[in-house]
Amino acid sequence: LVSRKNQQEDTVVSIGNVKVGAGKPIMIAGPCSVESYEQVREVAAALKAAGITVMRGGAFKPRTSPYDFQGLGIEGLKILKEVADEFGLKTISEIVHPSHIELAGEYIDVIQIGARNMQNFELLKAAGDVNIPILLKRGLSATIDEFVHAAEYVVSRGNKQVMLIERGIRTYEKATRNTLDISAVPILKQETHLPVLVDVTHSTGRKDILAPCAKAALAAGADGVMVEVHPNPAVALSDSAQQLNIEQFNQFLTSVRQSGLLK
Ligand code: PEP
Ligand code: MN
Repeated sequence: LVSRKNQQEDTVVSIGNVKVGAGKPIMIAGPCSVESYEQVREVAAALKAAGITVMRGGAFKPRTSPYDFQGLGIEGLKILKEVADEFGLKTISEIVHPSHIELAGEYIDVIQIGARNMQNFELLKAAGDVNIPILLKRGLSATIDEFVHAAEYVVSRGNKQVMLIERGIRTYEKATRNTLDISAVPILKQETHLPVLVDVTHSTGRKDILAPCAKAALAAGADGVMVEVHPNPAVALSDSAQQLNIEQFNQFLTSVRQSGLLK
């Protein structure tokens, strides 16, 4: 169903008034984790001022170590909703358990399925049974074919509002956290009709190359870019090393906009 052979026209995913895949790329930004009301509010105010309309923030965090911050859970989704309503923003947050999929719709506008859950088939089926846009991340070591089949799980249950996001894959290269597979963008655009985005933060894990990587993604045909922003990355409870502070985010955004690839 997600194949271009089955449907010629691009799928356009609506996040409120924001249309993803309609030819005007979007920028999604926000903290790795929702940590507090004040933290999210500070980011939201900066995003609003910068003309960004979709904010991300993790409430259920899939962490490598069980001793690391696991996220605020439903409380985090409530914070996102409260702040988003105040600033008129749309929100994206990861859901990790099938039983939370329906409930999530009360608080957030887009459900993210994280890289570690790309082949959590029960979660994909639950995501396919609701009428909420899904942002599906490529698995840590997933082939493009496996990624496309994961999307098929969602769409085949009836939920056609699916966006794909490349977030880097595991290779031998150590200079970046993961290897950003830029070629996945045109391949996914050719082989499927779904919007394709690129997460520059998790793919590179390096603040210093985010702008060129975002430009490369957009030049390759991506429908959007996602980046992490935190008011004070040094004290962030997750991904402290790779989140931009607000000033760095504004510089990043200016640089990407100057390329003419993002309005
Ligand atoms: C995230 O975007 O918050 C995240 C955990 O990313 P990934 O699933 O791509 O590792
Ligand atoms: Mn992160």
